Amino acid sequence: MRILVVEDEKKLAGFMKKGLEEEGYALDVAFDGREGLLMALDGVYDLVILDINLPKMDGLSVLQEFRRQKGQTPVLLLTVRAAIEDKVLGLDTGADDYLTKPFSFQELLARIRALMRRPAAAASPLLRVADLTLDPARRVVFRGSEKIDLSTKEFALLDYFMRHPGRVLTRTMIAEHVWDYDFDPMSNIIDVYVTYLRKKIDSGREPKLLHTVRGVGYVLQGD
Ligand code: CA
Repeated sequence: MRILVVEDEKKLAGFMKKGLEEEGYALDVAFDGREGLLMALDGVYDLVILDINLPKMDGLSVLQEFRRQKGQTPVLLLTVRAAIEDKVLGLDTGADDYLTKPFSFQELLARIRALMRRPAAAASPLLRVADLTLDPARRVVFRGSEKIDLSTKEFALLDYFMRHPGRVLTRTMIAEHVWDYDFDPMSNIIDVYVTYLRKKIDSGREPKLLHTVRGVGYVLQGD
């Protein structure tokens, strides 16, 4: 899950980046509205956290323009003003939720989880490929009845694979969704993490689920 934070307060942006990365999210930060809009329109994000008070272009204008250009990503608005008009205006403009500053990190996490769960909640909250299951809400993974312990990065990687079963995912796609802009395209870190992950979910088990597609990338599939 990759998140874009658009926030000019460096300290708050840094606090969100550090905390959310520890929770396994990949995170990029834009420090003004115009840059934020351009990055959001990239379309690689699963969620945009957007402050209302921003230099160059305010958050509500960013949101309006983003929706006008058919940006579909869920947007969580941040506001210092508890003014009801702001919230109403934000929701009218196409925000999915809002959070009033100051907020606690736990509050932020809860809102993010609720927003991320929303599209899948109606169908099935559990992700399943063959006998491998991942519960995004409880952050647990099972192969059959055996619980598998994953690091936060391995969990984020598997979560991305399980949302696209049977589809070949290139290193670029994986980098875009699981890593942030600090990712070095020359590094072999994705292959290293895929190797760790494969060892944990496939080693000593049949059928093998995580396959290499030579020269292209990787695919998670059950048959
Ligand atoms: Ca601000």
